[in-house]
Amino acid sequence: MARKPLIAGNWKMNLNHLEAIALVQKIAFSLPEKYFAKVDVAVLPPFTDIRSVQTLIDGDKLLLGHGAQDLSPHDSGAYTGDVSAAMLAKLGCRYVVVGHSERRQHHEEGDELVNKKVRAALKHELAPILCVGEQLDVRESGEHIAHTTGQLVAGLKGLKAEQVRGTVIAYEPVWAIGTGRVATPADAEEVCAALRAALVEKYGQEVADEVRVLYGGSVKSGNIADLVACDNVDGALVGGASLDAEEFTKLCALA
Ligand code: PEP
Repeated sequence: MARKPLIAGNWKMNLNHLEAIALVQKIAFSLPEKYFAKVDVAVLPPFTDIRSVQTLIDGDKLLLGHGAQDLSPHDSGAYTGDVSAAMLAKLGCRYVVVGHSERRQHHEEGDELVNKKVRAALKHELAPILCVGEQLDVRESGEHIAHTTGQLVAGLKGLKAEQVRGTVIAYEPVWAIGTGRVATPADAEEVCAALRAALVEKYGQEVADEVRVLYGGSVKSGNIADLVACDNVDGALVGGASLDAEEFTKLCALA
């Protein structure tokens, strides 16, 4: 089945709102309108930039999507510093990253919290980009498939098949994130295919065929084409390379 690829730029904690506007303008105007019929492109700025990005995208009717890098598992209330799915939806967000390895590592987020965040996102019609991926020692021990499919199953726990249709999965080996050490296409395909097989087993072929499984980890214009040529890789979650308009648009054009 043909799935429309998604290239999502995770800006992490970079760029203020003025820099964000400049980058979105450069990206949007470098990609021809017809490109967006074939590939979805989204930017995932820090919370402080989202309103500015939304205003620009809406005002100029840009075909870019946007989203956030995290959300609260709660809808509202006494959760100082948190941002809810309802707030993100109101800002026109389509996507939200959940369970990024940097949050698992620096904020000690475990599968249970990740699952609550996935549910919160879906409740407000945001597509959670659920990140899974193994540390280097796990790969070296040969447990990477069991580890990543385990994270997938835990992250989607309790969801109905219909809800799973609205999710995006990102395979991001931790050893490849921000290291310049990209997974080989064969390695990416092995895990992405295993993730899809786990989706088939739990939710059926039709749902699994619809869910986009992205690869993330040191993706650049020089390696994107070989990665998206894999049967089960439906695009990329891009960190560092999404901060450079020229490199990001070149990467998008090759996806
Ligand atoms: C990421 O942060 O999701 C990521 C994949 O980063 P990078 O592309 O810089 O490895």
